[in-house]
Amino acid sequence: MTTTFSLLFLPGDGIGPEVMREVKRVVSWVEAQGLARFRLDEDLVGGASFDVHGTPATEAMMQKALAADAVLFGAVGGPKWAGVPYDKRPEAALLRLRKDLGLFANLRPALCLDALKDSSSLKPEIVSGLDILIVRELTGGVYFGEPRGITTLGDGSRRAVDTQLYTTEEVRRIARVAFALARQRGNKVASAEKHNVMTSGVLWKEEVSFVHRTEFADVELSHILADNCAMQLVRNPKQFDVIVTDNLFGDILSDEAAMLTGSIGMLPSASLGARDAGTGKMRGLYEPIHGSAPDIAGENKANPIAAILSFAMALRYSFDLGTVAGRIEAAVGAVLDAGIRTGDIMQAGKTLVSTSGMGDQILKSLG
Ligand code: NAD
Repeated sequence: MTTTFSLLFLPGDGIGPEVMREVKRVVSWVEAQGLARFRLDEDLVGGASFDVHGTPATEAMMQKALAADAVLFGAVGGPKWAGVPYDKRPEAALLRLRKDLGLFANLRPALCLDALKDSSSLKPEIVSGLDILIVRELTGGVYFGEPRGITTLGDGSRRAVDTQLYTTEEVRRIARVAFALARQRGNKVASAEKHNVMTSGVLWKEEVSFVHRTEFADVELSHILADNCAMQLVRNPKQFDVIVTDNLFGDILSDEAAMLTGSIGMLPSASLGARDAGTGKMRGLYEPIHGSAPDIAGENKANPIAAILSFAMALRYSFDLGTVAGRIEAAVGAVLDAGIRTGDIMQAGKTLVSTSGMGDQILKSLG
């Protein structure tokens, strides 16, 4: 019997609901093909939730997210909520979800589809065929370390402190995620840190090496300084398979890697938690990396591909349906090969379509 998976949709604000509408059509296709069954639920998040409930994340929504097998998140935020109190801003919902769901691993693939190799700012031969995965530690490091804050000194000047902090277990668990994913791909991990100038980098390097030696000796491991990694990503990105790195360096390196491939409207991401020892299930939140794009919201212009590819990641990582994910990714590739484009990836001589038009074409290609 086909398992029924529970999926929580959180479309959010701006173009979030528009791109998620197209994702729902792909979910229906998966069901209609008999490939999986889903129990769907939906709730407000971000500014949309603030407008109705006075908070960007209600307790009821959080309970649904904790109970779901996977959460599909659109985007939150926009100028409408610029004046709301800091702890009620739309983006606070995403931070709460990451924290309460324990999503410590952020996965960002940077894949260069052949049809878009000319949209990259790098030469086509450097990015053509690119397929790398950045695994970023998401809940530790300098964004969370204590002490932090700004104090005023005796002479009236101010002093700001952030603390870069990692523990053995925090490094080991993200390293395990990276090695396990590498085994399903090119079997290579590059670990990026700054052990030459940071003690947290020394610990990071030692702990990644420990996990490698004791559990994943079959995977090829290299250590690279984070600044060199940034350089190599634009010099010769195809040397990498999986890059594992901390929260701060991951924030920067994943944005850099993502942009190698062209538009922000194309890029999916996954945030994963620990695997439950009893059920074997792993919490997951899947979202396009773009924001709510207020400048084009409500105009049926947004590219839904990042959101659709995020659903494909959910199929692969939360539901173990990599083959179905592969069919969706192939359908996206075929539509782009046929010259179909939304405005953000439009090129001369190609056919411009709307958000729903792109959804139509992807469904047609899926058959
Ligand atoms: P953005 O990603 O929303 O938009 C940047 C530019 O890219 C805009 O010109 C937009 O039109 C374009 N763009 C983005 N996604 C697109 C798509 N799918 N198709 C076509 N074009 C697309 O970033 P921003 O303008 O810096 O932020 C707008 C709002 O979104 C802010 O409130 C910000 O805080 C929020 N934001 C939310 C998230 C999230 O929900 N995860 C992420 C980033 C930004």
